[in-house]
Amino acid sequence: MTVPPAIVTLGVGALDTARRVQALYDGAQVHGLQGRVNEADIAYTELGAHLRELYASGTPIVALCAAGIVIRCVAPLLSNKGGEPPVLAVAEDGSAVVPLLGGLSGVNAMAREIAGALDVPPAITTSGELRFGACVLNPPEGYALASLDHGKRFVSDLLAGEATRIEGDAPWLDDVQLPRVDNARRTIRVTPLAWSGATDELVIHPRSVVVAVHASATGDNLHERVLEAARVQGLAAPSLAVLLAPASQIGDPVLRDVADALHVALRFAADSEAASNAADMLRQTLRVPHTAFVTDAPIAFAAAHAPLDPATVGRARGKLSVVGLGPGDASLMVPAARAALTQATDILGYDTYVKMAGPFRAEQRVHGTDNREEMQRARHAFELASAGHHVAMVSSGDPGVFAMAAAVLEALDEAHADAHRAAWSAVELEIVPGVSAAFATAAQAGAPLGHDFCVLSLSDNLKPWTVIETRLRHAAEADLVMAFYNPISRARPWQLDRALDIVRDLRAPSTVVVLGRDIGRPGATLKTTTLAELQSSDVDMRTMVIIGSTTTRAFNAAEPRRTWVYTPRWYA
Ligand code: SAH
Repeated sequence: MTVPPAIVTLGVGALDTARRVQALYDGAQVHGLQGRVNEADIAYTELGAHLRELYASGTPIVALCAAGIVIRCVAPLLSNKGGEPPVLAVAEDGSAVVPLLGGLSGVNAMAREIAGALDVPPAITTSGELRFGACVLNPPEGYALASLDHGKRFVSDLLAGEATRIEGDAPWLDDVQLPRVDNARRTIRVTPLAWSGATDELVIHPRSVVVAVHASATGDNLHERVLEAARVQGLAAPSLAVLLAPASQIGDPVLRDVADALHVALRFAADSEAASNAADMLRQTLRVPHTAFVTDAPIAFAAAHAPLDPATVGRARGKLSVVGLGPGDASLMVPAARAALTQATDILGYDTYVKMAGPFRAEQRVHGTDNREEMQRARHAFELASAGHHVAMVSSGDPGVFAMAAAVLEALDEAHADAHRAAWSAVELEIVPGVSAAFATAAQAGAPLGHDFCVLSLSDNLKPWTVIETRLRHAAEADLVMAFYNPISRARPWQLDRALDIVRDLRAPSTVVVLGRDIGRPGATLKTTTLAELQSSDVDMRTMVIIGSTTTRAFNAAEPRRTWVYTPRWYA
């Protein structure tokens, strides 16, 4: 399964069963109703909206609640049968497993898996499944059906009493109780070759073909030319598994687009400089025995005997995702960050943040480090990524705010002058933003950043203290709200008091101040005070300090009792 299921719970009574289901699927997470299931990995606020969002994004759903609730929630979206993810209802005590939707995306196979783990029989109602013990129209990963409409007719013929034979390698059908007869007129054919249209055949394509594109083939209409070349060779497009290109073209965006359009993995042939044509590239790169389809052309094909694991063909373009985790709570992490963490082969960062980003799967390598040398960490990330790994480099909050993104770009900028240049520039680099501590703290307090503001790091590790003093004075004079990052630490004990002295010269003692400590993390505290009362002993290195402007206001709300802080949008 490519996307791990969301295991959705409504009450704590379902947690035991949810965790047992979770153990079956790498990367699966337990979703819990906020305020009711706080032990869950991901919190949601409204079941209907949450299930619809998961369904629409194609995420398999295992809902630990009544089948009727699930059906009602996703009902508005149930029109396109082809594109639906598996949806199952599981009784919260694990006594029933009911596949509801996604017959063609493997819901019955999931129902069997989950029921097996819970030691109950799955409630399967699909005729073909019941008769044959598996859905012939839902081949396992690595295989694709040539035509769904035609396949449905083929299966109804079998249900009506027709027999079939099997041609080609279909190991998963060995356990299926199909009406098999060696000389049957009907045939299930497993082949990379295109379906002829014969109605007595069910054609299933193994994703077993590598298409190699020599440097001389790149240019306009590559997608169409690959499809045309495949057609000339009699190959079916769904059989394609890998687009193999020369390593010298590793950064070419056209190749990425073509691979995406073909739904294949993009891999690179290492020694392609020596290859005089595409077939040479295939010969030098493929380790498995295969059948070659073209020998002397800029586009060539090779078919393996079984579905191919793209990871065994050549090497990937490396990727470096610089990821912001948000302040701490998983619900404040953007989905793109979660996706990068799920896809990464290697995770890099300061130990505390790597722990915050986990848990990770056993095959993901975690390079936690206490090393504060950021440039070294950035270079290490490029070394790993340029060797073909997908590296996620994690920062708390936003990676571009006093964090790793700038160090990563500095390392890349420096590399332009030296031997790493080509390899590091070929790495696909993405920066995934996060909710920065100032924003997370401001949201807790109300809207203190509702008007012009600035952010300042009070750390003089990488800039002279005089620069900080000048900026503080200018910001205070300009009546900006100020958010202080890195306000104080054991190595920098006096700087905060000095900074406050400067601000106090220019702002009234009654100026509103917000202190947020460990916001979004266990034991978070939020305090509203004034510039006069603020003491540096109220602040530590896990605190965000927001100093209001002359217009920033604090007021008490009666129910529930609390203080709101905001800076009006207008100016007097
Ligand atoms: N990239 C981070 C900032 C790193 S600098 C971000 O965008 O949030 C580290 C400083 O950020 C800390 O000294 C503290 O001032 C602030 N900070 C980080 N996480 C915080 C949190 N959860 N609560 C309050 N302040 C936090």
